[in-house]
Amino acid sequence: MQSGLDDKIIFECVNCGRHYLATEVEYLCPDCSAQNTIDQPPKGVLKTLYDYKGIKSQYGKKLHNHLEKSGFIDLLPIKSRGSLSYLNVGNTPLYEINIPENKQPSHKLLFKDDSQNPTYSYKDRASNLVSAVAKERGINTIIAASTGNAGSSLAGIGAAQKQKIIILVPEKAPTAKLIQIAMYGAEIIPVSGSYDDAFDLSVLATAELGIYNRNTAYNPFTIEGKKTAAYEIYTQLGDELPDRIFVPVGDGCIIAGVYKGFEDLLRLGIIDHIPEIISVRAENPETIADSISVKIPRNYYMSKQFLETYKGISIKVSDHSILQASKELAAKYGLFAEPAAAAAYAGYLSYIEKFQLKENSRNLVLLTGSGLKDVNTVSEQIKLPRSIEPDMKNLKNKLSRYS
Ligand SMILES: [Zn+2]
Repeated sequence: MQSGLDDKIIFECVNCGRHYLATEVEYLCPDCSAQNTIDQPPKGVLKTLYDYKGIKSQYGKKLHNHLEKSGFIDLLPIKSRGSLSYLNVGNTPLYEINIPENKQPSHKLLFKDDSQNPTYSYKDRASNLVSAVAKERGINTIIAASTGNAGSSLAGIGAAQKQKIIILVPEKAPTAKLIQIAMYGAEIIPVSGSYDDAFDLSVLATAELGIYNRNTAYNPFTIEGKKTAAYEIYTQLGDELPDRIFVPVGDGCIIAGVYKGFEDLLRLGIIDHIPEIISVRAENPETIADSISVKIPRNYYMSKQFLETYKGISIKVSDHSILQASKELAAKYGLFAEPAAAAAYAGYLSYIEKFQLKENSRNLVLLTGSGLKDVNTVSEQIKLPRSIEPDMKNLKNKLSRYS
């Protein structure tokens, strides 16, 4: 089904290690996925590999410069960046804040703010690439299961690309995200049950009706889209790496993407190591952070393999600490992030309680979505003040603490 990619990529099964041509498989390794059951993380997720040796020898010392100038096209499973939507996906801001010495030595806190993507979440990186792949293959309909962000992202990118988008959502997805999907004109189908139920139904639709599927990890190119943040972080830091990166983890697709991006650069000899990556999960799968509220992580094996290979660290944070972190991020730094993104910051706060940082170390928190996506969850943190009569006496009373 795929065309023109066989000379550019091959797939490697994360479980059995078997290699496939791009024309041989589309989603999961047929051998490993044959034994998949509904209550276990799926086996057979595919990693996309490029001709690293060939790319390296073609550009020599000018490699990184070439990659940057060409928008890393040699490391994307598409023929042309012209197939991507015209919306500005990626190249999101990277903020660096000096944290003075307190309990920890002075260090740098960095925020990669992916809420600044067109549909306000990290998922645009995956949707943009999947949509471009579909476009290059002449496919006009894409389906996805989503707790909201991936769905609203695919709906938005699909609208810009004039593609028909079908989103299966669990019935409890936050209203703001559902409204966003509907506004973009996608076909929205609520499914009674969980995200996992919606996911499995969309896979059946792909198997029986042949509709192109954007599901996280199931479509290997979601990981390829999500890896682009790693390239940007390296480039934005002036060809340097942060010491560690805090990543919120649900399905394990964003963390696998971040690792994959750095691994590409490692295979090309552009970098000589991968930063310490901290996987931040919610303590319970029913967390308030709906974007990482997942019972069966869809990219469990790949993210586990990456964490083991590159000695990443896993920590868990409570709903209470996510809410606190959410408020602190907004009030202290001007960054209103959704609960899942605030979880990464809660992870940083928990990390600096337990581990000693090096002086001047760079600690990056990946903010994966906007707080406006899910205002209800944080509203209990906020007490809105009562109104006053419109006269100066009352206003002066209110403002007395400022004088
Ligand atoms: Zn396999």
